[in-house]
This record gives sequence, C-alpha cells and structure tokens, in this order.
Amino acid sequence: MKATNRPCPSCRAETTLGVVQDSSGQDDPLEVTLRALPVLRCAQGHTHFVTIDFPRKLLEHLVKEDERQLPAAEKKGLIFKHFLCADCGEELLPKPDHRHMFEVDLDLPDVAPFVVQLSMPVYRCSGCAKEQLHSLIEIQSHTPGALAKAFEAAGIAREG
Ligand SMILES: [Zn+2]
Ligand SMILES: [Zn+2]
Repeated sequence: MKATNRPCPSCRAETTLGVVQDSSGQDDPLEVTLRALPVLRCAQGHTHFVTIDFPRKLLEHLVKEDERQLPAAEKKGLIFKHFLCADCGEELLPKPDHRHMFEVDLDLPDVAPFVVQLSMPVYRCSGCAKEQLHSLIEIQSHTPGALAKAFEAAGIAREG
C-alpha cells in the first residue's frame, strides 16, 4: 500500500480508499463480477481507480494468467467445428450444460486483494463428464468488454 492516495483526477481533492461491493458487466457469453473492488473516493462523490494503470493491469492479469487456467476444450475442424475434451479427447455435448462461475483471487501490487467472478457457459464431455469452455480465446476476447461494463456499473469516472 502506498502511504498517500492520489488526488481525485476529476476535481484534485483528497481521496480516501473505498470499496464497491459488487459490480457486474456482461459481454456475451462472459459475465464478470468484481467483488470488494478497491476504489478512491473524494468528498464530491467521484469514484476512481486506485491507480491510473489499474484497469490495464487487471485485464492483463485476467487474460494472461487467470483465464489460462480455466478448463477449455480443443477445437477441431475448419468447417464443421468439433470441441474435444481436453482430458479424454471425447466430443463435448453440443449444448451448454449451464453457466459455471469461476472465482479468481486478485492480489495486484499496491491494491487491496479482491475477487473477480467469471461466469460463462460450460459444456460437458460425453466421455468423462468434465465441464469445460468451448474456447479460451473467445472468453479472453470478451474480457475487455465485460470489464468495461463492470467498471461502468461501479460508477468509476473516466479519466485521461
Ligand atoms: Zn473528485
Ligand atoms: Zn472427457
């Protein structure tokens, strides 16, 4: 933690650390929920990221580290796409089973720990029943959009 917060980027007033309990954003098929997101608040009620590069760092961490750990199928076929189980190689059932929520604990430098929930459709393997995503790249590509909407829902003001 830094000793002093940065001043409010909207009005230059002093800020205090605050928390937004729950804010969600959806970019189909992905829904992102930020839980206990640390923010800065000023006396005029502006809400801002704790650091200016916070959104970039969070996005990078999610896409490059956390989402890569999610169970994802292998895609086969150029015209007729098949999704094969990453564990046993059997085909996945054609329809999503349900939406599954994956929870990620974020511990970024200079920011109090918080939780990100990633909710997306999962498909069940016809062989071993393991649930997995169709495509990791798809989920990664929807992450910036879903995050932007979650920040909007949190009432975070634009800056820069
Ligand atoms: Zn302000
Ligand atoms: Zn399987």
